Amino acid sequence: MSYRSYPKLELHLHLEGGAPPAFIRGLAKEKGIDIHKIFDEQGGYAYRDFDHFLRVYEAACTTLQGPEDFRRLVLAVLEESASNGVIYSETFLSPDFCGGGDLEAWRDYLGAMTDAAAQAERDFGITLKGIITCIRHNGPEQAKTAARCAVETKGDFITGFGMAGAEMMGRPGDFAYSFDMAREAGLRITCHAGEWGGPDMVADTIRDLRPERIGHGINAAKDLALVDEIAEQGIVLEVCPGSNVFLNAVESWEAHPIRLLRDRGVKVTVSTDDPPFFHTTMTREYDMLAEKYGWDETDFAALNQTALEAAFCDVATRERIAKKLEAAQ
Ligand SMILES: [Zn+2]
Repeated sequence: MSYRSYPKLELHLHLEGGAPPAFIRGLAKEKGIDIHKIFDEQGGYAYRDFDHFLRVYEAACTTLQGPEDFRRLVLAVLEESASNGVIYSETFLSPDFCGGGDLEAWRDYLGAMTDAAAQAERDFGITLKGIITCIRHNGPEQAKTAARCAVETKGDFITGFGMAGAEMMGRPGDFAYSFDMAREAGLRITCHAGEWGGPDMVADTIRDLRPERIGHGINAAKDLALVDEIAEQGIVLEVCPGSNVFLNAVESWEAHPIRLLRDRGVKVTVSTDDPPFFHTTMTREYDMLAEKYGWDETDFAALNQTALEAAFCDVATRERIAKKLEAAQ
């Protein structure tokens, strides 16, 4: 059986990374941009390793040139998510890709994306919130411009701040200024750590950036004392097993630490990260969890409950999603 129609919440999704390849190809054609090299023969995204993936990702993003493109992107991504049973989603948004960090330009992009999110809610029945991310490999100074955009535009739609990009560039503490600024403005905090970095990177991230959630965090499993600390602090992990296996961050589904983390009391959720880049969907994640680990609706209801409690949304939204889950589960 497939869990396609089972209701799902997704907390870790990069907007541009969710772009269906056909959508990006269409934009490239409209604009006369030649990016045929980033696609394989089947029309999917093609790359060799994580660093190459980042370059392919950025090449795909060159087709996204204005607010109108991002409006269409939000609709394309949410239509795909909704078709996989996702009823609530949070997506990472980067002002670096939307006007280069300029606040007024960012406001235009954000306006278009907020409109699209409202339309998707009406048309596809999916709710979206936005988490502004700085891009780690663009450095701490550029991160401050992303944090400023986040602080200036926080509200009903922009509810969180985080960091994505190449994890091994710099140390978490280099970005503390931006995270402090965002936290003091009332934004909720998440940060990628422990996908490529070891337990020390996760520990430093917790100490220096004080996130409520960690993107991936899987390498914390190499230090059980740290795992226990994460469990004790109630920090939620946004685990993306399909992404980890595809990028060889872990060897296989069998070797993935999500079960260990969960068994030891860590709050885990499941997401796709950059679904078409990693040839996955939320349906496939659930189907693989069922096939590889024997997880069933009891486990998936628990994942949903954890995600609901960890969602960066207001109380009214949380209650509305809870009712939807109750009706659909
Ligand atoms: Zn990610």
